[in-house]
Formats: sequence, C-alpha cells, structure tokens
Amino acid sequence: MATGTRRGMMGRGELALALVAGLVLGAGLLGCRGEVETKPVQPTAPTVATPEPEPEPEPDVTEVEPDVEEPAEETAWWRGAVFYEIFVRSFHDSDGDGVGDLEGLIAKLDYLNDGDPDGGDDLGVDALWLMPINPSPSYHGYDVTDYRDVNPDYGDLETLDRLLAEAKSRGIRVIKDLVINHSSNQHPWFLSAKQGPDADKRDWYTFVDTPPEGWTQPWGPGPVWHQAGDAWYYGIFWSGMPDLNYRNPAVEAEMHDIARFWLARDVAGFRVDAVKHLFETEDGKLADADENHPFLKRFRAAIDKDFPNAVLVAEAWSDADSQARYYGDGDQFHLGFSFDTSAKIRTAVKDGVRSDLNQMLDKAARVFPDPGYEAPFLTNHDMPRVFRDLGEDPARMRLAAALLFAWQGTPFLYYGEELGMVGGEGGADENKRTPMRWNSEPDVGFTTGTPWFAVPDEAPGTDVASQLADPQSLLRLYQRLIALRRTHPALRTGEQARVDVSGGPGVAALSRALGDQRVVLVVNLAAEPSEPFDLPLTGEPRVLYAEGLTAPPTVVDGFASFTALGPRAFAFLAY
Ligand code: CA
Repeated sequence: MATGTRRGMMGRGELALALVAGLVLGAGLLGCRGEVETKPVQPTAPTVATPEPEPEPEPDVTEVEPDVEEPAEETAWWRGAVFYEIFVRSFHDSDGDGVGDLEGLIAKLDYLNDGDPDGGDDLGVDALWLMPINPSPSYHGYDVTDYRDVNPDYGDLETLDRLLAEAKSRGIRVIKDLVINHSSNQHPWFLSAKQGPDADKRDWYTFVDTPPEGWTQPWGPGPVWHQAGDAWYYGIFWSGMPDLNYRNPAVEAEMHDIARFWLARDVAGFRVDAVKHLFETEDGKLADADENHPFLKRFRAAIDKDFPNAVLVAEAWSDADSQARYYGDGDQFHLGFSFDTSAKIRTAVKDGVRSDLNQMLDKAARVFPDPGYEAPFLTNHDMPRVFRDLGEDPARMRLAAALLFAWQGTPFLYYGEELGMVGGEGGADENKRTPMRWNSEPDVGFTTGTPWFAVPDEAPGTDVASQLADPQSLLRLYQRLIALRRTHPALRTGEQARVDVSGGPGVAALSRALGDQRVVLVVNLAAEPSEPFDLPLTGEPRVLYAEGLTAPPTVVDGFASFTALGPRAFAFLAY
C-alpha cells in the first residue's frame, strides 16, 4: 500500500493493512503466525528549522492488519464500547443562529460513525453522550427548567426522535445527561416552593429557618444555603441550582418517571450528574453520603424493570475507592467515570515516568469489583482540554490516546479531543466548550452566523478537514485506535494486567487478555530512547500498531527483546 493513501479510497480492513508511514512488520499477515519477520522502520527525516509553528514530527508508524475475527459476544452493548461526549451548543449549527443544534448533529453523524464498519472517514464510535439538552436558562444546561422537553435552542422532541433514529441506523446509541441532584431555580417546582412554607412543592427542596453553621461546598469556601424570603434553601453548586429533596418519595417517583420517559423514546441511557451529592447527612457530610446508595439501587431497579439494556453512567468525581462504591453490588451504576485514571494517565505522560501509571493499574485492579465498570477518559467538559494540559505536545497526546484506548472498561472521548483542540485561554468553563472545528475557514465550519462563543485561535491544522487529509494526523490515530479496539475483542473486554518491564523509568506495559487472545501495549513515556528491555510473552508476538518503534522486537525464550523504544513511543502487540 502506498504511503499516505486516503482512507476514503479503501475499506477499513484495508486501512488496517495499509502501511501508513515507515513499513509493515510482515509477521502474522493473513494467518501466518510463524516467526516474526522484522525489518527496521525508516528513521524520521531530520527536522529542518522552520518558522513557527513547528510542524508535528512525523511519527514512525508500524501497522498490520488484525488477524482476529470478532467472535459473537454475549456481553452488554456498552461493555468496551467507545463513547463520544458532545456539547450540542458547540458541535454544529444548522440554521445560522450561532448555536449548535440537534439538526446540526444529525448532519455530522457520518463523521462519528457512518454505519459502515468497512469503509468511510468516520471515527467509528459506538455511542454518544449528549450534555444536557433540556430547556434551561444557562448556556450549559445543567440547571433544568423542564425535564420532559428539549431546549428550543437545540430543536424539539421531534428533532430528537429523528436524531435517535438516524443514529440508530448507523449503529450509534445515544445517552443523555440526566441532572437529578438539582433543578434550575426557574423550574416551576422551585417557583412554587419558594413561595412559602405552605407552597405545594415546598418539600421538593430543602428549606430551613436557620442554616446550620459550618456548611460550605466540599471543594471550597462557597455557601450551600441560600436565602429565599425568611427561609434558606440548600443548593450545593449555587443559588441557581437548588438541590432536590430525595427524602420526599414524591420527588424520587417523579425522577423515575422522567427517566422512563426518555428511555421510552429510545434514549439508550443516562450520564447521571453529580451523584455523590444526592444526599447530605445531618452532620454536614455533603459528598458520598451512605444514603446515596439505597436511592441509586431503587433508581436502577426502576429502570431495569422495563429497560434492561439501558446504561447508567455515574459522575462521582471522587477518588477511585469512593467512585467504585457507585457500582454497588452490580445493582447501581453500570459505568463510572474514572477521574483517577484520567489524572494518572496525564501525569505519567507529562512526567515521563511510569510510577503513576503502574500505581493506577494496581489500584484499578484492586478497587473495581467489575473491571468493566471503569469508564476511563482523558479530560471532559469540566477540565482544561487534554492537549492544553499536555503542553500541546503532539507526542504526549498520541501516547495518552494509546493508553486511553488500551485501558480496561468503556472509554469516553470529548468532542474535539481527537483534533487536539485546546479551546480558549482563561478559567471560564466556556473556554473548555468552544465550537467544534470542522474546517480551516475563519468560522471553522461551525456556523454561518456569529458563534455563541468566540472561536479561539488554534494551531493551523486543528480541524476535521485538514486532519482527514493528513494520514499522520491525531484524528487518523484516533480512527486507528478505535478500529483496533473493534477488531480486537481483548482490547474491549479483556482482563487487564500490569506487565513489569525494565528499560528505564519511562517504560511500562499493560496487557489485555480474552480467551486465547492477548494484546499488550508497551510505552516509553520518557523523552529519551529507552534502554534495551525484555517483555515477557508467550507465543509469537506481532506488532499491530506502533509509533516510534525504532527496531522491532526479537523473540527469545518467552521474551520479546527490544533494543529500544524511541522517545514517547508506543507499540501494540498481539500474541
Ligand atoms: Ca442553531
């Protein structure tokens, strides 16, 4: 295959065969699983000094086709799936009002997954998570005023139905944010409740005459009690988001009904916001209270009864030990975001040493009773974008992506992450949620009008069109890594283990095993080439995909012997 062949000209299977740059390690092609036939990868051409911005160095890439037929799996659809988080307001605007909408998302579904596993230019994701799409007075939507409707900025219920149908026809499932901890202070329930002690919905929220002393937000000094008339109400995030009172069974029943309303419309599940804050104890424990758990068991049961295929994803922004409790006995959440994994992958990649990575592999093995519960990610809409966090270093970004897609569980990526978007500067959350960059025009292809939030300047090439035209782009890497997961069930649902290797403080490896299929990812996090090292392996390893593998391994007595891994290099091997 010619270097630089456009993916659109061939099927996905052929893509996997393609030699993208460097050359194919010929071992294992089409079932030939004998000796690893190895050839040196072409060294990268010396970098010539150029004016800014510096071009991204071309990675040494090694890629061969997968040899494993996907077996029929009897696992739930979300296990090992790849999710893509979307802020609808910033994804694509269909009508020129500067606000992204559901119609705009429908128009871009083929980018996400065109429904043809054997071809196209799509990412190949399995599912979408839509940040809140309910009516709301805020731009972000986490303060809901109507739990059974769609924000008119985005469309209406009919548009949503069409989105779900269009997505389904491509094999994409859609989950939505469900913000159950609090409503908007503009919600009719709260407008009633704040009228006074006798108001109809007074006990749907928590009012006190005198707020208890010493209660502040768990993450800072902010107040959690807010004055309304002569009384005070509880709202952990801010006065515009009063917490719902789940000690009132009527509120709980209403939220069960709301959940079933969306599932009946074919929404595939929910990312449930802020679940660690559902209950507060009398002595002021405002996060991870024990009472959260029986409530969540009842919530799960209410959904399982009629919608056993729905998935519930917990946002419990706590350390892994606390976060893992939201799995319950397999009777609370199916998935939980792993904030620890996000942090440890990024620090390992930033620091160039393996200790954080190895500690996280051990911790994940210890704290998650079901490894499939873990939902790893790099960053989300509440964090500075990962490429910014990694100092806009392309090699670090590629390494982080390799680790994300090798990790156990169900990975989530955040729209634009696959392009290396960094968003805007400054601490405002809007800077983390800027318009998706579809092309290199000044409006980045997001809107023909004035975008709801100014599109920040970003490095040339930070857009879909440019990166589809570049076989070495980050977007192309994301496509390859997602395809690798699809064609290697061990990467989706296989058992994860840390593999101890020498080679220097930056060298680490993790393996995934399913039946007799094993895939190992070996990385060199350091900015220097590794020392020689051996990777314990049984059988004959084949390089599935690698970047910066300066010399392929040779196999001796149950070890793959590497003379070196290049700076920030990684290699996926199957054996
Ligand atoms: Ca619009």
